[in-house]
Amino acid sequence: MQIFLKTEEEIELMRAANLLVGETLAEIGRAIRPGVTTLQLDRIAEEYIRDHGAVPTFKGFPNPYGGPFPASICTSVNDEVVHGIPNDRPLQEGDIVSVDCGTLLNGYNGDSCYTFQVGEVREEVKQLLRVTKEALYIGIEAAQQGRRIGDIGSAVQTHCESFGYGVVREFVGHGIGREMHEDPPVPNYGKRGEGKQIKSGLCIAIEPMITLGSPSIMMMPDRWTIKTRDQKPAAHFEHTIAIHQGKVDILSSFEGIETLELN
Ligand code: MG
Ligand code: MG
Repeated sequence: MQIFLKTEEEIELMRAANLLVGETLAEIGRAIRPGVTTLQLDRIAEEYIRDHGAVPTFKGFPNPYGGPFPASICTSVNDEVVHGIPNDRPLQEGDIVSVDCGTLLNGYNGDSCYTFQVGEVREEVKQLLRVTKEALYIGIEAAQQGRRIGDIGSAVQTHCESFGYGVVREFVGHGIGREMHEDPPVPNYGKRGEGKQIKSGLCIAIEPMITLGSPSIMMMPDRWTIKTRDQKPAAHFEHTIAIHQGKVDILSSFEGIETLELN
């Protein structure tokens, strides 16, 4: 395992790539409503990213199980956990859709995901979204310099399981920098005090993937889309963070999205 610690200059380049992801997700959030298709959201994302001088990292991303990813964002609806492929099925009132977005800007990667509500969503699903987002921030808080990667997973897992939710094991967070996926892996489960020590300059994506029911998942025939086996909904929130200057610095941003939600 080779972990590339970043300089202050590199962290600022990563912040720019990640803020662009945040703005792209806010653009998508503005368009989400019953009747819109995830393919329409994909076109909005690709155009916005390219207009800002970046490349959508997901497009053409290689797959160990099949063909490259065909779109610029992953759109995972309801019981789809991650890696959903945008399609022409209109979103419906009460759906949730996780939009995962990555950009490559000036040689550095941004990666962030937000689970949106389509119109009015039922209360137990709203709580799943709230708790998963809380778990993300609790995980971020645990990522202090000198602590260990297992502290992050332990914090996320404890919070989510206290609500009876499932923590997906097969997909995890990751180091990020010149490559979208670098070492170390950052699981959403684990034990305090275990794993690699968190050092200054570490940049990681923390991304709880949490299910309303069992954490058991399956891959669809498209070789990308991952669904829950029990067909219950799943939520996914992700931030890219840097540990530097003795602090945890969130490089991506939900600010644009959350401004929309208040209106
Ligand atoms: Mg992502
Ligand atoms: Mg990621």
